[in-house]
Formats: sequence, C-alpha cells, structure tokens
Amino acid sequence: MATSERLEPFGVTIFTEMTALAVEHDAINLGQGFPNWSGAGFVKDAAARSLEEGKHDQYPPSAGIPELRGAIARRYGPLLDRDLEPNIEITVTSGCTEGLAASFLGLIDPGDEVVLIEPFYDAYPADVALAGGVPRFVSMRPPEFRLDPDELRATFSERTKAIVINTPHNPTGRVFTREELQVVADLCHEFDAIVISDEVYEEMTYGREHVRMATLPGMWERTITLSSLGKTYSLTGWKLGWAIGPGELTAALRAAHQFLTFTTPTPVQHGGVAALEAPESFYEALRADYQSKRDVLARGLSDVGFDVYLPEGTYFLMAGFENFGFDDDRSFAHHLVREARVAVIPPSAFYATPGGGSDLVRFAFCKDEETLEQAVDRLRRI
Ligand code: PMP
Ligand code: GLN
Repeated sequence: MATSERLEPFGVTIFTEMTALAVEHDAINLGQGFPNWSGAGFVKDAAARSLEEGKHDQYPPSAGIPELRGAIARRYGPLLDRDLEPNIEITVTSGCTEGLAASFLGLIDPGDEVVLIEPFYDAYPADVALAGGVPRFVSMRPPEFRLDPDELRATFSERTKAIVINTPHNPTGRVFTREELQVVADLCHEFDAIVISDEVYEEMTYGREHVRMATLPGMWERTITLSSLGKTYSLTGWKLGWAIGPGELTAALRAAHQFLTFTTPTPVQHGGVAALEAPESFYEALRADYQSKRDVLARGLSDVGFDVYLPEGTYFLMAGFENFGFDDDRSFAHHLVREARVAVIPPSAFYATPGGGSDLVRFAFCKDEETLEQAVDRLRRI
C-alpha cells in the first residue's frame, strides 16, 4: 500500500524470491546468477592495498577515480575503435544496475517510449517506469530467439527515445549478429533514437563474435555502453560498473548519477583498475572454462529430458520442460526447488506479454562442474 504506484506492479524480484527458496530448501542454486567460487584474486589484492594505505577513505570524484577511468579508456579504446576521453566519455557507476538507472533517469522524459526486447532483464521495465517512460515490447521466440526486423520496426514510432540492447543476452544466451544489430542501428537513425547497450556478459561468448553497438557506423553518437566487474571477474557482490558514451549522453547520465549514488566506494574502484589491466589470457581462460561448464550442464539436462537451447554467450541456459508434465514455469520451478532441491528461474518474470516464457526455465552454469553434475543427478531423480 505504501509502495509508489510506479513500483507497485514490480513486486519483489524473481532473483530474491528464488534465492530465498533455495536457502529454505537447501537447494543447489542455479537460479540467480553468481559464481560459487571466490572472485579474481588480483582484483581483491588491489582493493585490499587501497584499504590498507589509509589514504582513500573519503569521497572519490563523482565520475570515478581518474586511475580507473584511465584504465577503462585503455581497455575499451581498442574495443570501441576510438580514443576515449575519460573526463567526458567515461563514468564509474555502482554496478551496471546503477548505470542503467542513471541512463533512464538522465535521458528519458515522461511519455518517451523505450523499446524493450522480451525476454528482458527485469530492471529495464522498472527503470522505464521510474523515469515515467512508456515501454514498447518486442518478443524473441524459441528455438532461435532472433530479432524479427518487421516486428522490431513496428515497435518504433516518432515517440521512441531509446532501445535497450543486451548482448550477450540474459536469459537466452543469444549473441546478436552484426546484421541484427544493424537493423536496430538503422531504426535508431530513422527515428532519431539512442541505444542503451548492456554488455555485462561481453567476455562470455562461445565461438561467436561480440559485436559492440557503439562500433556500428554512426552509432557512437547514439550509444551508451554499459558493463561491470561482476560477471567477468566473478565479483557480483562488488557492484562496480561503468558507462561509456559521447559527451552529451554522458552528461545526461551523470546528471542522474550524482543524485543516485554520487560515487562508488574507492577501494572497489582501485580493484577495478587491476581488473581492467588483466592480460588477454585471463579472458581466454574465462571463456574456455565457461564453455566447458555450459557443455556439462547442457549434456546433463538433455540426458534428463530437457529441451536445451544451447547458449552462444552468458552463463545462462534456457530449457523447455515439455517432458515433465507441468503447466507453467512458476509451478515447475517451485516443484524443482522443493522436490529436487535445485533452484532455477521461471523466465515469465522476463516477459510483459502474458504467457511469455511459461514453457521454459533458466539455469545458471556459473558453478563448479561437480556442483553442476550434482544438480543434474538431483534432477534425474524426479
Ligand atoms: N544487466 C544484466 C543483463 C544482468 O544480467 C545483470 C546481472 N546482475 C546486470 C545488468 C546487473 O549488473 P551489476 O551486478 O553490475 O549491477
Ligand atoms: N543478473 C543476475 C541474474 O540474471 C541477478 C541479478 C540480481 O539478483 N538482481 O541472475
């Protein structure tokens, strides 16, 4: 009753709900995506040194410490194929979550339309609502989960201010092709819209190229690229993110950021400097490791009778459960956590369209392989 009308419809997130059930039933948690190992040691060492030095206890600059913005510029300059200007094009945020909120609140006016792709990460429609925007949904369907150019076009109008692109995509594991992204870019040019590009799974691709929206012709000017430390360095609890974009978009984002969090804890930012200086071999090892985990889980789930949609990226896998005789994803997920003691995410939470995702469940494979095997064993018994 006390919750604002804007937020009331969103309730408690599916991640909070399923993790609470996982704890209650002592289940293996393949729901909320977080690794079950300790995060990158070299990043933690750098943060610990920052704490021990005793000189970094007061407010850092709102846009982030210069050392971190410099490290972001050095890493992302070549990836985005341009010289980045840390003072006007890079902002450090408290996770990608804050980068998203600052983008919407800084750029969207009441009544502006925002195109969201179903299934979507749950924060997007909530952020649109916070900003007073109007969401327009377009669906991707199994087995391909591809963007349909005609359906996409039908969601754009003269009121469209922005589209959110998430690639690699949570929860489908799609890595959008250059051709798919070019369709989005063409529409943005035609309708004078911007892209909020959520690329937190940028380093988790399995034999696919991660194409960055901001590198498409004419798209740097229209794109905010968001990422964070959580997934790549197995530090989801640290909430360190960054936003990269042209001066005008960055200024809008910062207008909101200064009042949301103002800044992000300094030791965590020093850890971020070490993270972004990791050698290429770190990312190669990460990809190889996750690809192997993906294959372990995919094989196991297929054996047990799930219809597996093999992901091209991220650490999530969508699977159909037609063989198990349940009507919808929520009742099946609740059954699994109680009876098999394996937690998953019912992806209807990622759709606005009624019935969307109700024949699928999402598994996270950011767990050691023994745990994944154990989860499959538990599922085999039901
Ligand atoms: N975007 C997507 C697609 C995600 O899966 C997540 C995962 N939490 C986030 C944003 C949030 O990132 P962070 O933890 O850095 O806030
Ligand atoms: N991104 C994580 C996931 O998709 C969860 C983030 C959260 O708990 N809010 O599982």
